[in-house]
Amino acid sequence: MNEAVMHFIWNNRLLKTGVWQTQTGERIWLESPGQHNPDAGPDFLGARLRIGNLRWTGAVEMSWHAMDWYRHRHQLDPTYNQVILHVVWEGSQHAMRCDGTEADTFVMKPWVDGYILDHYSQLMSNSGDFPCASQRGLVDRSRYLAMFDRGGLQRLLQHKQRFWRSLHQCGGDWDRALWMGLVRSFGMNANSAAMDHLALSIPMSEIKACRGHFDHIWAIISDRVKTSTAWIHSGRSCTLPVSFTKNKLKQLAVLVAYGIPDAGELLSASTPFEVRALFRKAAQTEPGVHLIENTHDCLSPKILQVFIINSLIPALFCYGEENHLPQEQDRAVQWLEQLGPEKNRCTDIFAYLDVHANNALRSQGMIHQMNAFCRPRRCLECAVGAFLLTRTLYKPYAQTA
Ligand code: SF4
Repeated sequence: MNEAVMHFIWNNRLLKTGVWQTQTGERIWLESPGQHNPDAGPDFLGARLRIGNLRWTGAVEMSWHAMDWYRHRHQLDPTYNQVILHVVWEGSQHAMRCDGTEADTFVMKPWVDGYILDHYSQLMSNSGDFPCASQRGLVDRSRYLAMFDRGGLQRLLQHKQRFWRSLHQCGGDWDRALWMGLVRSFGMNANSAAMDHLALSIPMSEIKACRGHFDHIWAIISDRVKTSTAWIHSGRSCTLPVSFTKNKLKQLAVLVAYGIPDAGELLSASTPFEVRALFRKAAQTEPGVHLIENTHDCLSPKILQVFIINSLIPALFCYGEENHLPQEQDRAVQWLEQLGPEKNRCTDIFAYLDVHANNALRSQGMIHQMNAFCRPRRCLECAVGAFLLTRTLYKPYAQTA
């Protein structure tokens, strides 16, 4: 148990019904719990309460023990003069404000349903990436799917921010920013930093001058990779392609030599499948394909999918935002819905629990959920976690006047 659970209970009005009283015996009516404040200062701002015969609007501070008011030195901090109620789990100390007045105290523990605490402990004691796995049967699949759809949009916004930084780093050159994204996709997760370094080391003018000259671009890439290796050996935080085959770099060289579609072409494609066709056309109509061993394609479907999801769709969203074209932002989301789901460890975990992604928006949502909520154990901030903790309660507190 911790203060986060107290915040969750207060914020969602999950206290048992009855006659709540301050430590001095004044009756409390909660009209609004206020806005949760994750920053410095009291935990809830703008709460509305009736205490005894008086109506109050102000802050609510939560502490595990009443003594924490003094341990955290709130009695010396004028910010806490606005506190109208000190909600504690246990303890009986009075909370003195630094203006010499006293804030009322309310002990929460007797008013909390044991069900919430049991389920919270159960979630937190579960090891593994997905603490609610053992309770999967209690949650309807549609609840997970709605959560993944929201998560997919969150992840798109994160990717958009990253593309935005990359565009800034490239001086507003969309071709270069997309080139960076393409090269990073070749490195997948393990080598993306090394590939970033490689992409940055080749100016756009060199790339354009290499059109039609495989030997030329291959010499440049080979040289830069050697330089990168030296750079890595100098002790910086970048792992160069240990598992990275020469063939993959050759694929990249063939793509450069025989035509990477430019940003205008890529962003005006009507669907992600047209993007695939643009790359395929560029790579297969030229003689360079024979330079690559064991493949008939310069760009594997997996690399292309990573590029479209992580760079091109965020670029399209960014373009829409930059130019006040919401229809382009909608198109970015539609592309995610049109693309097939990714397959990775995260989607495998959910699939094992019989929750399947049917498109890339949902598989992206799964990755977001796992990284941002499940692994850091932020179950109290998650729609499924909130449902599990409250599913048998569903009774907003009701007090008799
Ligand atoms: S964050 Fe949500 S989905 Fe993830 S384990 Fe916790 S309750 Fe389950």
